[in-house]
Amino acid sequence: MFEKITEHIYIHPAEHYTDRPNIGLIIGEEKALLFDAGNSAKHVEKLRAELSEQGLPLPDHVLLSHWHWDHSFGAKFWNADIIAGNKTNEELKKVSKWKWDEFSMEKRIETGEDIVFCTEMIKREYPDRNEIEIDLADTVFEGTMNIDLGGISCELIHAKGPHSEDSVICFVPSEKFLFLGDANCKDLYGKPWKFDIEHEEDFLENVAKIPYDEELVADFISILEKLDFAHCISGHSEIMTRKELFESFSL
Ligand SMILES: [Zn+2]
Repeated sequence: MFEKITEHIYIHPAEHYTDRPNIGLIIGEEKALLFDAGNSAKHVEKLRAELSEQGLPLPDHVLLSHWHWDHSFGAKFWNADIIAGNKTNEELKKVSKWKWDEFSMEKRIETGEDIVFCTEMIKREYPDRNEIEIDLADTVFEGTMNIDLGGISCELIHAKGPHSEDSVICFVPSEKFLFLGDANCKDLYGKPWKFDIEHEEDFLENVAKIPYDEELVADFISILEKLDFAHCISGHSEIMTRKELFESFSL
């Protein structure tokens, strides 16, 4: 179910079993924008069915927060304008050439192109990995981009942050709300960390042990400070207040 958060914003909650992220819907008088595409055709099918059941509009635009599979692999299955920052689109061009057989997936873990956690989650979301289809963006921007949905505007900002260099955030000024994607999270692709699918209960603890790159956090905070948001949401956790987000970087 999409949950109403503000007058114009709804959020479909993350599903941790196959690493499906929170999906945001921002509804203007003329158009709607979806924040993140979902991780598969099945995920998109579920979101679409719930939109229809709840009488909510299908998105005209779908923004990809960053290239990671769980946020971008659903893009192909929305009949909408797919928007991404230029860095995200460049990464997706590489990923679109990846093969999904066991050997190729293991090889990418060795080369550091991918990580154990994503590999395991992809296997779970896709019992048949021939179904993986990667779409590139229709609209690519550099720096910032403003989208007018009719009475509601969305500021898309390539904010980088500690998680992934290509991260884009979406600020909705009239709602004082900020979508972070994973931009505020740890860099799971940077330094090695342990993920064992037999011990998923250790996931949060192991991620918490990964250090933040302090310089990237400082640059990110200086971008966040300029935005007048009261609440925000990250890719895989609950809504936070502005204060909770700023405090989270020093935990
Ligand atoms: Zn990510």
